[in-house]
Amino acid sequence: MDFKLTEEQEALKKEFEDFFQEVMKDAPPEYGTGGLEGTYKTDEGFQFHMAVAKKLGEKGWLSRAWPKEFGGQGAPLIEQLIFNEAKDKYNAPGVDMFGIGMFAPTLILAANDEQRERLLPPIAKGEVSYCQGWSEPDAGSDLASLTTTAIRNGDHYIVNGQKIWTSGGHKADCMFLLARTNTEEKRGKGLSVFHLKMDLPGIEVRPILYMNGTHIYNEVFFKDVKIPAKDMIGGENEGWQLTRQTMNFERSSIGLFIEGKNRVRDMVNYVKTHKKNGKFLSEDPIVRQKLARLYMELDMGHTLAYKIAFLQEQGGLIFAASAASEAKLFGSELIQRIANYSTEIMGLYGQLTESEWAPLNGVMNEMYTMCMGLNIAGGSTEIQKNIIAWVGLGLPRIR
Ligand SMILES: Cc1cc2nc3c(=O)[nH]c(=O)nc-3n(C[C@H](O)[C@H](O)[C@H](O)COP(=O)(O)OP(=O)(O)OC[C@H]3O[C@@H](n4cnc5c(N)ncnc54)[C@H](O)[C@@H]3O)c2cc1C
Repeated sequence: MDFKLTEEQEALKKEFEDFFQEVMKDAPPEYGTGGLEGTYKTDEGFQFHMAVAKKLGEKGWLSRAWPKEFGGQGAPLIEQLIFNEAKDKYNAPGVDMFGIGMFAPTLILAANDEQRERLLPPIAKGEVSYCQGWSEPDAGSDLASLTTTAIRNGDHYIVNGQKIWTSGGHKADCMFLLARTNTEEKRGKGLSVFHLKMDLPGIEVRPILYMNGTHIYNEVFFKDVKIPAKDMIGGENEGWQLTRQTMNFERSSIGLFIEGKNRVRDMVNYVKTHKKNGKFLSEDPIVRQKLARLYMELDMGHTLAYKIAFLQEQGGLIFAASAASEAKLFGSELIQRIANYSTEIMGLYGQLTESEWAPLNGVMNEMYTMCMGLNIAGGSTEIQKNIIAWVGLGLPRIR
């Protein structure tokens, strides 16, 4: 594998970086360092996210990787990675991880012509935001056992049940929902995928506040919600197979490694400018070793992310799950190590967020509290280890 970018790719990278650098000059203070918190915790952050999404849509950059026949440019995945890297370098918003990252490729794969013509253009233009309606209080790792029902009634499906942990559900226009259409079946065979609007009668969104008080996550309740039958994506009772494919789109975890690099660079500046016992922290051998080790691990993760994009390109969108699990597991634990070490280096000041004494505007403390969810969101650490053992190492699958 050749890691060096071609001249065209270098030019593209510069074009993306110049755009994001410029756009971030308008970021409101509420947006902070971005991520899910920046996008969802305040109205200002969300408006900024949507404004950037529209600009990206006008440039055709949200749909660059889509096949030409669906309004994209058929750009190779490696260019998508370069784009994501440039965006994350500047902590920029504008790319809906659910609409762009998961639902659009699902539509491209399985929707009918009418659905693609209706649903893809607003996503490409950055006009709509999506949330993911999969997990339930009793169905997370074992998602196929979910119990929210969607029962056919004439030209509608009637939905009843509850979803949980719905990131951004309080701001999203639409959801892609996984629900049980066959109640005789208790597992994957009876599930279907739907597109639905979040303002339909019978939908109630309740906040789940994170431990630091941030509102990103939600419970979503459905009481006799009527979804038009034409909004079922793929075949009835064929939703589990499709959802397993949705899980496999763009899973390089590049965002984790770029965010980690941004934060370690912040820490390098911090230790150069802050003293302990009369000496700059940058002179402390333990501090130097810790930061050097983190940077080295970030470089390893970065390489792994590129390897995944490379593998994806070789094997199409759906590729060996093991490498993606490795990156997710390594990246989420690495972010936690960065947050732990950084707040440790800062001492008691590292525990401050909203205070004039909070180092780096409290960003490390915020990261310390928020990063706990990375072990669970998008498939828990134990599930990733199971996949690596089973798919990657060929060990027997344990059900
Ligand atoms: C921050 C955050 C954001 C999220 N956002 C969304 C969202 O937007 N939309 C959405 O649908 N869901 C979302 N989720 C839900 C997430 O996908 C689930 O929490 C996750 O899949 C785990 O499911 P669970 O919570 O039911 O835990 P469980 O599946 O009950 O797991 C509990 C523990 O048991 C372990 N475990 C379970 N099965 C096995 C096994 N076979 N082998 C070994 N160990 C096992 C798990 O690793 C975990 O430690 C989010 C979760 C978090 C924390």
